[in-house]
Amino acid sequence: MQHTVDRIKSHALTLGFCTLGITKQHIPTNYRHYLDWVNRGYHQNMWYLAETSRKQKRASAKHLLPNVNAIVVVAMSYHQKLPHPSNVKFARYGWGLDYHDFVKDKLRQLQSYMHNELALTFDAKIVVDTAPILEKDFAQQAGVGWMGKNTLIMNQKNGSYLYLGLLLTSLDLPEDKPTSAHCGTCTACLDACPTNAFEAPFLLNSAKCISYHTIENKNEDIPAALQPHLDGWIAGCDICQEVCPWNNKAHVTDSKETQARQHTYLQPEQIDKLAPSDHKKIFAQTAFSRIALPKLQQNVKAAMEKDASIKESQKKV
Ligand code: SF4
Ligand code: SF4
Repeated sequence: MQHTVDRIKSHALTLGFCTLGITKQHIPTNYRHYLDWVNRGYHQNMWYLAETSRKQKRASAKHLLPNVNAIVVVAMSYHQKLPHPSNVKFARYGWGLDYHDFVKDKLRQLQSYMHNELALTFDAKIVVDTAPILEKDFAQQAGVGWMGKNTLIMNQKNGSYLYLGLLLTSLDLPEDKPTSAHCGTCTACLDACPTNAFEAPFLLNSAKCISYHTIENKNEDIPAALQPHLDGWIAGCDICQEVCPWNNKAHVTDSKETQARQHTYLQPEQIDKLAPSDHKKIFAQTAFSRIALPKLQQNVKAAMEKDASIKESQKKV
């Protein structure tokens, strides 16, 4: 079976994944940590993270595939050392095409390869970000990376700019060993967060996070206390990744799917005047299509407010 796993791993690399690991565990090791996080209300308006039936499903991967025997976890890098194309900033995970689509598509290709080329017969379930399962937990158990203090999975070769995907299978595959953690005494991500969103290492309070407020928080305006810290971020925030020393040394990617698309070049005044039909066209097939135009325009206004007030005070002087 090890030979089969080696072929699965080699094929995953040809599809554009940078790492593939396997775990036979179906219970997440940090489930209690997740429950504690939700009980503290740190998920804020992301109700689907605290909803009872979804919460129960996250206790075991068997809720998604009852006969699961192994979870194949893949990672794909979106690490590029390029400056932001505009005066406003989009988080790098959403520069290119929508990762939900292309990571899922690559996993489907991997599944077909296992069926057709390796003649394996099995049940499977593919997951990329939207199903009730603690993906990062299984990524850790499968040796894909360790959980950084910034709550992201990272590994020594590829850093933390990683898309994750899971292929739950009924196959009895040999598992990989979990990776040891390499954060050590570093606290760069915790120190650099401009809004002090980390209550402790591994404990992110969404109420204070720019990423949450610019993308997920659909019901409220960006809190006044956060606005001076936006520094141009209008869709997500990468600061707690930018400062991570592992990302300095990480491999960069040239995958076509992650190349910056038209939306990342929009200047603030263009977003401000964007017609709904153009917004739809420009953001189609990107992960940020889910940010409604009025919300995006409000984010731009909030992000540029500090600049405007600095210019105003300079004028007065
Ligand atoms: S995404 Fe930005 S605001 Fe949120 S925790 Fe990281 S550095 Fe802080
Ligand atoms: S910045 Fe330091 S503490 Fe934070 S995730 Fe990277 S290595 Fe870990």
